[in-house]
Amino acid sequence: MSHFSPLSTLPPDALLGLMTAYRADERAEKFDLGVGVYKDENGETPILSAVRKGEAKMLAAQTTKVYEGPRGNTDFCAHIEQFVFGKDHPALKEGRVLSFTAPGGCGALFLGVGLMRRMGARRVWVSKPTWPNHPNVVKSLGLEVQEYAYSRDGAFYKLGALADLSTAERGDGVIIQGSCHNPTGIDPSTDDWRELGRLCKDKGVIALLDVAYHGFASGLDKDMDGVRAFIEEAGEALISYSCSKNFGLYRERTGCFLAVGETAEGIAAATTHVADMSRATWSMPPAHGAGIVATILGDAELRAEWEAELSAMRLRMISLREQLADSLVSHTGSNLLGALKKQNGMFSQLPICAEDTVKAREVDGIYMPSSGRINIAGLHPDDIPRLGEILARYLV
Ligand code: PLP
Repeated sequence: MSHFSPLSTLPPDALLGLMTAYRADERAEKFDLGVGVYKDENGETPILSAVRKGEAKMLAAQTTKVYEGPRGNTDFCAHIEQFVFGKDHPALKEGRVLSFTAPGGCGALFLGVGLMRRMGARRVWVSKPTWPNHPNVVKSLGLEVQEYAYSRDGAFYKLGALADLSTAERGDGVIIQGSCHNPTGIDPSTDDWRELGRLCKDKGVIALLDVAYHGFASGLDKDMDGVRAFIEEAGEALISYSCSKNFGLYRERTGCFLAVGETAEGIAAATTHVADMSRATWSMPPAHGAGIVATILGDAELRAEWEAELSAMRLRMISLREQLADSLVSHTGSNLLGALKKQNGMFSQLPICAEDTVKAREVDGIYMPSSGRINIAGLHPDDIPRLGEILARYLV
């Protein structure tokens, strides 16, 4: 008997299957709405100009490939701390923040959920719906997944979220996404964030704030309002930060794990646990992407260039979103779909049932996952009128 025989085959990744089917589809008219990365008007995911320059500058100055140390690139960590907390947050001066370079936002999520487990959590709440890798990470670390209500009629369902989370037990964990929620594009207001923070504080629930689209909603500073308001109320939080989308560094695996605590002693102890988990998995974090980000953010000219490129991506997504919403409203006659305009970032979730996503694919060549999540950044303006016309048939 083979050692491998206890393993049953896991179901294939639905999104990857969709991409393969799209490529194999020979119809002249087909639309890929399922991709998970930013695309420009040519349907490409280009290397940002600031990234090209930052990378060249970093490589020219590099003298060794020796390990950087458990925290990875400490300049990178300091920049991400400033992104999350702002320049003069007292926690930064009082030793109440920790930060580690991690392999992408997922590496940071893994550290966050792992730390929750070491802090005693047995279950972790995730939004319904959420990005499928959230429950994956929670389950792979041996913790139980619970869901809290998140959206209703295209907007944040605050009452539902608060009602579900108020049944959490002391010591539970919760993952809350920063701006540009994946898959809905729906974000809580700053006041909603405050309420969530107060509830976590009152119930003794530890939150992991997952920031994967910083700068894609309203701008670098504004996009952190919710996270900062939450931290003000909750006092303590874990944060995972991804540079995959806003720097376009996907394959370089560039992320940061951070935590803020009420005492320096608590954070000092947590630091030893994060270092321990990091050592036992990747041992040392990858240096390349973090080095590029640190180079860009440490150089006024490159930073300005990156910020301009980031703004251009954001404005392009906002414009596509508006065009699609207008087209859907005019074709369906339903203002409900106008809610798309108020949503943020790369994704939105259309009110379409799973069977109709299959029908849309088979009959009309529209590829999207069964959840109805569409990537706004993957749209071409010329396709929007036709897409609106087809999609409207499934949305009313
Ligand atoms: N969190 C959310 C909600 C995401 O959508 C993503 C990427 O799609 C990530 C985290 C992390 O991505 P990465 O590990 O590629 O940085």
